[in-house]
Amino acid sequence: MENTSGFIQQCLASKMFTEDEFVSTTTRFFGDEIELNKIIQETKKTLVDYGLDLAKIIDQVTGDAYYVLTNNKQDTLATLASKYTQTELLYFKSLVEGIMTSDDNKFYLTYHEALDKSGEIEVATFRSKEAQTALDSFFKDKWLESVSGKICLGNRSLAELHKFLKDNYNEETTECYVCSGILTRGWMCHYCGKGIHSFCYNQLSTNQNKECLECSKDFDQNSQENDSVVGPGE
Ligand SMILES: [Zn+2]
Ligand SMILES: [Zn+2]
Repeated sequence: MENTSGFIQQCLASKMFTEDEFVSTTTRFFGDEIELNKIIQETKKTLVDYGLDLAKIIDQVTGDAYYVLTNNKQDTLATLASKYTQTELLYFKSLVEGIMTSDDNKFYLTYHEALDKSGEIEVATFRSKEAQTALDSFFKDKWLESVSGKICLGNRSLAELHKFLKDNYNEETTECYVCSGILTRGWMCHYCGKGIHSFCYNQLSTNQNKECLECSKDFDQNSQENDSVVGPGE
């Protein structure tokens, strides 16, 4: 297929495409005669040689689709290395660590907790002010997302850092039993242990009450110890 390399250049330059952006970009490069699926398959085939893949990720709450180029071999954060300083990378790593290992399936840090993490990396020149600047660019580049002031992993991290997260936080990561995506926002049943994304749940549930679709036990939203909510809530 002609124009594939130009299209891939464009994918590399973009951080992440929304579905609309993706469709308009493919139209720009290939016209609108070729089926989207064929373009995706051809692009994937070309990317394999470079150890890359074109991944589609579904937002865990809205269900919106995003397209991201991912590096399948990368189990480190090297993918961020071209943009950030070594210290910012260390800081990002400690934020991911904090988010992934937070208690009770919270999968978020408060803004203050995130700023406090700057102390953990023990670089004298990197303080709150530098941490704030770094946080701002992590948001802007879509690595992190703020949900009502709670700092979570962005869709870009969930897609591009998929292997890193699975390799380093295997014990902490749960998958949605419907779509197999990493679960950081949704529900976790304390009776049968099934986890499900908010979006996947809402797609399948016809019931107003929030209850497990597997074992029909009510999801507990209020008890501190046995909260069934995964992530910052909706
Ligand atoms: Zn799901
Ligand atoms: Zn259940």
